[in-house]
Amino acid sequence: MQLIKTKDKLEGSKKGLEIIEKAIRNGEVKTLGLATGSTPELFYAEFIKSDVDTSDVTTVNLDEYVGLAADDPNSYHYYMNDLLFSKRQFKESFLPNGEATDAEAECAHYEEILNTHPVDIQILGIGTNGHIGFNEPGTSFDSLTHKVLLTESTREANKVHFEKEEDVPTHAYSMGIKSIMNAKKIILFAFGKSKAEAIKETINGSVDVNCPASVLQNHPDVTIIVDEEAASLL
Ligand code: PGA
Repeated sequence: MQLIKTKDKLEGSKKGLEIIEKAIRNGEVKTLGLATGSTPELFYAEFIKSDVDTSDVTTVNLDEYVGLAADDPNSYHYYMNDLLFSKRQFKESFLPNGEATDAEAECAHYEEILNTHPVDIQILGIGTNGHIGFNEPGTSFDSLTHKVLLTESTREANKVHFEKEEDVPTHAYSMGIKSIMNAKKIILFAFGKSKAEAIKETINGSVDVNCPASVLQNHPDVTIIVDEEAASLL
C-alpha cells in the first residue's frame, strides 16, 4: 500500500485527481469506480474543473440505499447527478437501482455490469468502523454485490443528510468486498480525526473482517490518501 499524507481534504482531493487525470490521459481508464458521502465532495468539485476528456469513460458506483428513487435528494443517484454527472460527460454511468424489489436479481444484474465493465481505478472512502462501500465489519471478503443491513453507527453517521433519523434507510445495495478488490487500482481517501482509528487498523492492523478496509493490504495496487488528522494515529 502506498500512503500519501496531505495537509487537508482539498490537497488530498487534488492529489487523487492528479493520479486519475494522468491515468485517463494515458488511456488506462475505461471504467472508473466512484463513491459517495462527504469524503469525495471536494474531489468532484475539482474534477468538474478539469479539462480531462471523460466522454469515453464509463463509471460504476459502489452503492445505493434500498428504497430511494433516483430523484430522491438523499439517494446516491441524486448525489452523483448533482455533483458530477450533470456537469461532466461520461460514456455511461451505473449505480445499483435502489427501487429494485427483487434484491437477488438486482445484485446479480449489478455484478454482470461489473463483469462487463471491469474497474480500472476505484475510489473509496472509509467508514469510522472501517467499512468500504457499505460492507460493514464481519462481511465476508468473498462477498459480491449484496443487500446490506446498515449498522447503527453507519445510520448515525449518515443521518446528518436526512431530515429525520427514521428517514435513514435501513438497507443498501453495495458492491461486495470481492467486487471492490477486483479493481485494478484502488485509491482510498480518508479525511478528519473520526477516520484516524480506522486508518490505523487498515494500515497497521491485521487483515481481519472486523475492519473491512484491512483487506486492502492484500491488493497489489492501493494508494491511501490521508490528511493530517486521519494520519494522526499512524
Ligand atoms: P463519509 O463516509 O465520506 O460520509 O465520511 C465514508 C464511508 O462511509 O465510506
